[in-house]
Amino acid sequence: MKQMPLELKQKMQKQGYHFVGDHSAVKICEYTANGMRGKTLCYKYTFYGIRSWQCIQGTPAIGCDLGCTFCWRLIPEEHGYKWNELNAVEKWDDPVMIVEGMINEQRRIVSGYKHGADTDQKMKRWEEARMPKHVALSLTGEPMFYPKMSALLNEFHKRGISTFLVHNGTLPEAISALNPLPTQLYISLQGPDEETYLKTTRPKVQNAWERYRAALKALSALKTRTVLRMTLVKGLNMVNPEGYAELIKLANPSYVEVKGFSFIGEARNNEKRGLVMESVPSHEEIRNFSKRLAELTGYILTTEHMPSRVVLLSRDEDAKSKRIIDFSKIGKELIAGTSTN
Ligand code: SF4
Repeated sequence: MKQMPLELKQKMQKQGYHFVGDHSAVKICEYTANGMRGKTLCYKYTFYGIRSWQCIQGTPAIGCDLGCTFCWRLIPEEHGYKWNELNAVEKWDDPVMIVEGMINEQRRIVSGYKHGADTDQKMKRWEEARMPKHVALSLTGEPMFYPKMSALLNEFHKRGISTFLVHNGTLPEAISALNPLPTQLYISLQGPDEETYLKTTRPKVQNAWERYRAALKALSALKTRTVLRMTLVKGLNMVNPEGYAELIKLANPSYVEVKGFSFIGEARNNEKRGLVMESVPSHEEIRNFSKRLAELTGYILTTEHMPSRVVLLSRDEDAKSKRIIDFSKIGKELIAGTSTN
């Protein structure tokens, strides 16, 4: 693919995506905006101390090889495009260009929020928001399709920016090859068994389940903070906690985020996704499911964020005590993925 299809690009720009180079994008997160306005911060602030107002939400690759029914994002296939065409990039952009491009684009977006900084605290947050300290590589697509991910992480770390990388679990070799590792590496946990996994993720590649289990195994060997993030949908994958427990033990992550699905964005397209408002679990239901998982795995119920309907489980007391990232200690060793293992 030489250029991203213009019509698709325009659709995404209307949804607030800002493109950087040929295949990367940033989009301001509602919690980053909230942070500048002194409103509710994201659950990663509560769980790990991430300053939402200093966070870049971005991706270096637009296409995804899964089509999760609960995904709020635009799924190219549902708009007539093929994910592998979107990722068939002739020449991938340079990591330095992408990092600098994302930081500059974030500053450009943030500059539009100055008018709302009508208190000293808000003005301080606005000024801080112009100096990003964290990047969430989870905006859309599968970021690990970007073949220079290690170099990209290194460029962010060199600028004192911590990195959360969210992978969908279809590229086990790619995560084993990461060096440096991100500050925190996520794999999405979308189903407790093969049948539910395939029904929930609608993979566009062969052997998705086998590759997924291989990725969980690979995750267990990595020396950095690791997370399995569950997105639970009633009537679809909020079943079989024993199956989830087996996968959690296979991956042995530092943390498990048990999160309820949100009926937002493109996930509301019932015709294409088959989901309804009643598919959304309450926080109470999420809490009970988490308690069952803690019983089955020995993980520790640690904290929760009710606005996002999410509960955090820690592997042990050591992980629990290290969950908040100490930003005053920003230094290469911490940002370059100090292990809790
Ligand atoms: S960590 Fe995620 S939810 Fe929090 S501000 Fe960044 S993109 Fe938004």
